[in-house]
Amino acid sequence: MSRPPKSRRVEFLPRLTYFKPAGVPLRELEEVGLTVEELEAIRLKDLVGLEQEACAEKMGVSRPTYHRILASARSKIAEALVGGKAIRVEGGNFQVVMRFFRCQKCENEWELPVGQGCRGELLCPECGSEEIVRADEQGRPLFYRHNAQLVEEEETERKTEAVQQE
Ligand SMILES: [Zn+2]
Repeated sequence: MSRPPKSRRVEFLPRLTYFKPAGVPLRELEEVGLTVEELEAIRLKDLVGLEQEACAEKMGVSRPTYHRILASARSKIAEALVGGKAIRVEGGNFQVVMRFFRCQKCENEWELPVGQGCRGELLCPECGSEEIVRADEQGRPLFYRHNAQLVEEEETERKTEAVQQE
């Protein structure tokens, strides 16, 4: 009995998933299937330029596993380019690394894959506010939790005072 393979962490989901050579009639067109994690392996190594060790760590796999994914990706792309085949990117065994955001203005919460929505250029998709904070999976702000607690305590004190004045 074999265990299902551990899913690989992926920080990039391609928007375009089909690449077709020009001038080949559809009925003669052969396809090569590239998995999403194979594309990620290529992206990290050949585009971002990370060392294999860092790539493996980012994807949450061992170095030999990473090496295997990368070698498979490169060979498929070579096969497509040399043989004039189409490349279809789909499927695989992966998990997209997500980040959670929260709008301070309208309390809207949403998530984005890591890498999208760099700080400073992110707007709330509901109200367009720029007051965005990173949040954990429960929607609690990641950086302001301590302050939020202080505000809560002050609030309680004020209520207590109000009660005493009555
Ligand atoms: Zn908002």
